Amino acid sequence: MAKINPRPSIMEIALYQGGASTVEGVKNVVKLSSNENPFGPSPKAIEAVRKVAHELHRYPTTDHGPLRRAIAETFNLWSDNIICGVGSDEILSFLCYAYAGDGGEVLYTEHGFSMYRISALAAGAVPVSVPEKNRVVDVDAILAAAGDKTRLVFVTNPGNPTGTMIGEGDIRRLAEGLPKHILLVIDGAYADYIEGFDGMAKLTHAYDNMFITRTFSKLYGLGGMRVGWGYGPKYIVDTLNRIRGPFNLSVPALAAAEAAVLDREYAEKCRVENTRLRAWLAGALAEHGVSSDTSMANFILARFGSQAEAEACDDYLKSQGIIVRRVAGYGLPHCLRITVGDEASCRRVAHAVGQFKDGQHGKSV
Ligand SMILES: *Cc1c(COP(=O)(O)O)cnc(C)c1O
Repeated sequence: MAKINPRPSIMEIALYQGGASTVEGVKNVVKLSSNENPFGPSPKAIEAVRKVAHELHRYPTTDHGPLRRAIAETFNLWSDNIICGVGSDEILSFLCYAYAGDGGEVLYTEHGFSMYRISALAAGAVPVSVPEKNRVVDVDAILAAAGDKTRLVFVTNPGNPTGTMIGEGDIRRLAEGLPKHILLVIDGAYADYIEGFDGMAKLTHAYDNMFITRTFSKLYGLGGMRVGWGYGPKYIVDTLNRIRGPFNLSVPALAAAEAAVLDREYAEKCRVENTRLRAWLAGALAEHGVSSDTSMANFILARFGSQAEAEACDDYLKSQGIIVRRVAGYGLPHCLRITVGDEASCRRVAHAVGQFKDGQHGKSV
């Protein structure tokens, strides 16, 4: 039978691998594989969703005015320069369709987020990976790789799964050094974990070729609601709005995100707790001989001696009901990404890694 063929680039897309949440035959599983907030969303966000439950027959706003104004007030930004999407994933996808969908190149870095490649291919763009240097974004390598065909450059800052960061000087160097036809996109999914940091949002006021993305899925604990936002020059927001579905965000999603961003006390509590537990977990892993770069996000990239050791540790953790993330697909086969959970989860994973390391040493003696 003759099959109907899609555009060739579609078949190059490997299906996205989400973090697992169950282990067969193991109870009391702790999921540390998807960088979710272990404390859940603000109680005010949950209450806001309850309140709109009787309005589900109504269409949502199409301009997201209340949410954009809440974001703008909170971070001291311009509401007209904000676009909201079904997760920041949708914003990344709009960018690929709008600026590179005619076969243009989309650059991202070696250990960058897997959605850049997927969104580029889906849009008909050509994904291009640029090397990093010791798990840190390399500005010079990006500048060297960017050319006539390049349309977009995606930089995750802080990085996922590396947790490392580049500073404002480096971002400026990119914005100023890239050829003028290229849009620089800074993905700030983890920006909220850094005190007083706006994910370089205000820096976009100074550049016509720079855009940022943020999300409610990480610090705000709303991954299940699917809300993200983009910020940058208004002419870019206006462009992206042409391909945005008019009702892309649901009534409950809008209500939850607005309440969550306005609850500063809760967000701050989660941020402080993440910082404390992240330092503790990194220290505990180091004591067991597992090193990591200083992470600025809500996870730690644990480095092992080899791919075999990382996989053996992952298997052991799974047998103990602890799910972490393998990151071979991100060019880091000897590493495991471990989300910073609540205190009990951090203690549990550190203890299990210690047991694994001891057992291994026991065997080799
Ligand atoms: C989690 C994450 C996102 C956010 O995705 P959403 O679609 O907003 O849930 C974006 N970029 C990176 C690098 C991430 O890790």
